[in-house]
Amino acid sequence: MNYVALSAWPSGTQASDASGKRDGRKPFHRSMELTGRARAVYPAGVTRVSVGAVETGGENGPYSVYADLGEGAVVQDVDGNRYVDFHGNFSTLVHGHRHPGIAGAIHRQLERGTCFGNPTETDLDLAETIRDRIPAIERLRFLNSGTEAVMFAIKAARAATSRRKIAKLEGAFHGTYDWAEVSVRSTPANWGEDRPRSNPPYLGTPPSVCDDTIVLPFNDTERARKILQENGPDIACVLIDMLPCAAGMIPIEAGYLAMLQETAHKHGIVLISDEVVCFRLGYRGASATMGFDPDLVTLGKVVGGGLPIGVVGGRADLMNVFAPQDAAPVPQGGTFSANPLTMVAGRTALEALGEDEIRRIGELGDRLRLASEEIARRMGVPLSVQGAGSLFRFHAKANRPATFRETFADADHAAFLRSLHAAMLLRGIYVAAPFWGSVSTAMNEDHIDHFLATLRECLAELPAPGKS
Ligand code: PMP
Repeated sequence: MNYVALSAWPSGTQASDASGKRDGRKPFHRSMELTGRARAVYPAGVTRVSVGAVETGGENGPYSVYADLGEGAVVQDVDGNRYVDFHGNFSTLVHGHRHPGIAGAIHRQLERGTCFGNPTETDLDLAETIRDRIPAIERLRFLNSGTEAVMFAIKAARAATSRRKIAKLEGAFHGTYDWAEVSVRSTPANWGEDRPRSNPPYLGTPPSVCDDTIVLPFNDTERARKILQENGPDIACVLIDMLPCAAGMIPIEAGYLAMLQETAHKHGIVLISDEVVCFRLGYRGASATMGFDPDLVTLGKVVGGGLPIGVVGGRADLMNVFAPQDAAPVPQGGTFSANPLTMVAGRTALEALGEDEIRRIGELGDRLRLASEEIARRMGVPLSVQGAGSLFRFHAKANRPATFRETFADADHAAFLRSLHAAMLLRGIYVAAPFWGSVSTAMNEDHIDHFLATLRECLAELPAPGKS
């Protein structure tokens, strides 16, 4: 049973106590100790930039909450505190922790071996499952991360079109392949007026990376069409995420998507649907749900069942750039690609993610988003929630932002979301910072009730943005 003992979390106390003592939780001594060790081995004391220290204040400064174990919807930290896990490793764990079917499949495979220099039947099983589910995928290749999936999709598009440039949406994150990273972190200081500027992702980015990346304004159909048309003959691909998390998790507008499709077809541009996160929105993935017909699709996260994975797939003729084996236009390999542990975990995860479960967690997500907004509205707190289905992202804004630029939070609003994140964590609700998450199939209405009750308590306590 995945249900968590809600009575373990007394409420109505200070959320800013780093020791965790005041709200009856166990102090974070072991997490603080491990954070100290981490500072001596990792830059900034963290091994993934996205899993930073929780800013709860306290005499020892920010610290990371170290996980010890997970079970169903719950994660337990090294000090014994338990949280309902709406983080799910950035929406990867669509079935929560240690789903019995997935854990069983991994155990059985462990007895047979973890990786081979041969193909195994397990990779065929997952490949067929994915191909049979996603209409745009006729052929595919397995990789180890979403970053690699996006990288190989872009390489495939370049090889197939003999063009260098790519187009992408402002603010959208697609992993860490240089071109895909352009203008992810644009701010009002550098995003440009009429046309989004191509901003370098890291210090020392070769200028050619930005020159070869065209950034489109998000959900602005006419301006994006104009930019695409001007550059059409030079563009290899348009990289699209239909629910781009870093850009605010604002659903893409149907008219905007239709424009991208029409303009791309007119100019022979390859359409890449990056479904690393948004695949979970529909049984056949996000593009099929939106009536969108991409040439290539990238997958990751949930299709690996909790183990590392990336997938690039699409039209057979395009995917042929990865053939023949010894002289392919785009060579593609990977020591751990298609490792059987990931393959059996992924296949079991997909089998357990049927239409009914997708609908059920989508409805739980709808309720979480709408009821959270209603609570905030009644309490006079400027808070809105974007997302779709089982995915949600909070904004410290009274009205839902409709474009990436509207999501931009000033210092007060950003600090408010960070405080809310920490306050929820101290009360046993874990989301990704600053504030986004997902509903897993290990959850039910009780978990949403608990989330909403906790949100109400935290909002009652925290000073509204600008009032601290
Ligand atoms: N594409 C999207 C839309 C993503 O959100 C991410 C990561 N969250 C990636 C690609 C990269 O995936 P990975 O972290 O597995 O490299």
